Parts: sequence; C-alpha cells; structure tokens
Amino acid sequence: MTSISPSHRAHALSLGRFIDEAPSPYHVVQRSIDMLDTAGFRPWQPGAGAGRWFLAQDGSVVAWIVPDGAGPTTPFRVVGAHTDSPNLRLKPHPDANAAGWRRLAVEVYGGVLLNSWLDRDCGLSGRLAFRGDDGVSTRLVHIGEPILRVPQLAIHLDREVNERLRLNKQDHLAPVWGIDDGSARSIIDVVAASADIGAADILGFELMLHDVTPSGLIGVDEELLSAPRLDNQLSCHAAMTALAGANPDAIAVVALFDHEEVGSVSTTGAATAALPARLRLIADGLGATADEHAAALAASLFVSSDNAHATHPNYPAKHDPGHYIACNGGPALKFNANQRYTTDAVGAGLFELAAERAGVSTQRFVSRSDMPCGSTIGPTVAASTGMRALDVGVPQLAMHSARELCGAADPWDLTLVLAELLSAS
Ligand code: ZN
Repeated sequence: MTSISPSHRAHALSLGRFIDEAPSPYHVVQRSIDMLDTAGFRPWQPGAGAGRWFLAQDGSVVAWIVPDGAGPTTPFRVVGAHTDSPNLRLKPHPDANAAGWRRLAVEVYGGVLLNSWLDRDCGLSGRLAFRGDDGVSTRLVHIGEPILRVPQLAIHLDREVNERLRLNKQDHLAPVWGIDDGSARSIIDVVAASADIGAADILGFELMLHDVTPSGLIGVDEELLSAPRLDNQLSCHAAMTALAGANPDAIAVVALFDHEEVGSVSTTGAATAALPARLRLIADGLGATADEHAAALAASLFVSSDNAHATHPNYPAKHDPGHYIACNGGPALKFNANQRYTTDAVGAGLFELAAERAGVSTQRFVSRSDMPCGSTIGPTVAASTGMRALDVGVPQLAMHSARELCGAADPWDLTLVLAELLSAS
C-alpha cells in the first residue's frame, strides 16, 4: 500500500476543492479552464501552431500542447475522461407541489444509486439560457446552500423497507424545498435571482441536484477521500493537472467529454466527431496531409481514464478472486476480452513503463466472468480515431452513489502516470 505523503495529501485536498466547486459538467469545464488559464493555455484560433490551446463547448473541453519542433507526423498522446456524473435533474416544468409541500419534478440522469439521494441535504446547479442583447445567452448557476431534500418514508409506514427498498423514479424521488403557502413562487424564481437574471428572461435551463457536504479526508489516518462525483471528476482533475505541468515531445491532449453516463451519443459526448475533428484541426496547423495525419494517428495513444471498482469488503463475492483491487494500491488497468475496455498487451506495457518511470505501483482489474462488465469512452474513441487505446482508473467504492469513496493516495499517483504518458514521444 502507498503511504500518504504530503504530495498525495495536497493533491487529494485540491481534488476535493475542485469537486466542491464543480457540481455540474458545465462547472467542471469552467474549473478546467481556470486551471488551463493559469498554466498559459489560450482559446484556440485558426492557424494556431505550436503552443498551449483549448476549445470548450458546453460540458466538454479539449486542451492541447503542440511542442516547438512538432511536425505533420508528430503523434498524439491523448488522455480522455468524462465530466458528467449520475444525478437528479429538474424537469422542464419543475414545480410539482403536493400535500402542502413545495416539491420538484425530477428526471434520473444515468445509472443513479437512487437510495443514496434520500435524506441528503442538496443544492442546485447547472446553467441557464436567457434573453441576451444578441439572442440567447448562458450563465452558470451554483446554489451551494442546502435548499432541497428527498425525504425517506418512515419505517413505521413500510415495515419491510430494510428487506426490500423499492423506489419508483416518478413517485418517490421528488425533492421538497419548503412548505407550500399557496403563492405562485417557482424554483425558477429562486434560481434566476441567484444568477441575477429576471425570471421572465429565462428561456431554458439544465439544473441538477448535488450533495452540499464538503469533500474531505476521512478514516483515522485520513487515508480516504470522501466526495461526490469522484467518478469521474477525479480523472478530469488528474488529467488537467498533468497537462498543466507537461513539457511534452508528442502533441499532448486532454479531452473531457459530457454524457458518458448516458451513452456518450450527443454533441459533446465521446461518440461525437469532435475529437477526430480537433485532432485534424491541430494537424492542419502543422500543415499535415491526410496521409501524414493518418501516420500520426497510427503512432498515437489514447488513455481513457475512468474510475475502477475497488474490492468491496462486504461483498467480496462480487469480485474476481484472482484480481482483488485495493484503494491506495495504485491506478488499475482495466481489461475485458470482449473489448468493453480497450487495454491490450502493448497498451498495458506502455502504461506499466510510464508507471515505473513515475515510481507508482499499478493493479489489474477484470470483472467476474459471470457478471456483465461496465464500459466507458475508451472503445468509442478507439473506434472513431483508430488510435491504440487503454483503459485505466483509480479504484473506488460506492460508484454512482451521491457520495463516493476512494484512497487519498491514488489520485496523485494517477496524475504522475498520466503526466509521464502525456510527455512521452
Ligand atoms: Zn465514469
């Protein structure tokens, strides 16, 4: 096991702050841009060549470094991750008062562990579209106070709840936000006021619930990080930290996509043409022909970083007994013979060598053969670009809970390996 050094601790605390300031995918992009800005990255402009650039769109951002001396066949080293996390999102007509309560109508986004949202004090965040001077403008909104709660039914009214908890997504997940006094006050009035916009000017919104409890180190030796959205803001933060400090030989790229939790098929998801188009745009800046760009892609690497399942001590039978995964045991390479994960022998070798250079130990994850395997953006991007790819991630418990748990050492160790991979030629 890795002991927690001051560097591990500082990075884990920095990750906790990043997560607390990024309750929605749009905020992940905003916080990433803040980090890029500090590290000398600028918005991409046509004709851009060597330098540090980024392009952001909604819940997705791609940032890259073209080193001096890069040419038309210089390969790409790309780290990909996703900005979204499963949660509860407001419906277009959100006000759904009932039985004397102010209450909201919500949709379930992604594979939510529904019970984890019960009796949890929540804020609201996302973005607003509003009437601007030149048409539709947008603004991010983040209400960090506990204004919402999905209250659980008392055990006296369902004596079998501990044997059989059933949650109907339509009926049982609506959060309350106060007592209904009969006035016409809408949650949109509250959100508009917090964003300093007239409610009548709001044209559309994407708003979602988040746990307001601050992230923090826990355990008697503070060797664990308790936080929401570790899947997959941990990887977003690690990738951006690695890129910000990179001085690469190859073209180093970090691509953060939205909508992984719902299948990645969207304008800003990994199944979009955006990443191939961005790579082509970088190649154009270097004067690459189609053949030269194809040669560059053939020599490139895509590292898909998304959290892995640590072995759960209360459910060891859910894991392959020959592949137990420990928190603070280092990042886990993910394997699946059926290509739900992309790691092949050569990709694993590249990762192991980078980890050796970084002084970081690694682990190898594979699912039980009688259980379905998860997946992430690796196969999608590998298929659309033809780049060699590998899947890796920090082990965690309680994936897709409103509150997740990982080791405090692993996020920094992942960052060190990603930095090596981004910098190698
Ligand atoms: Zn994920």
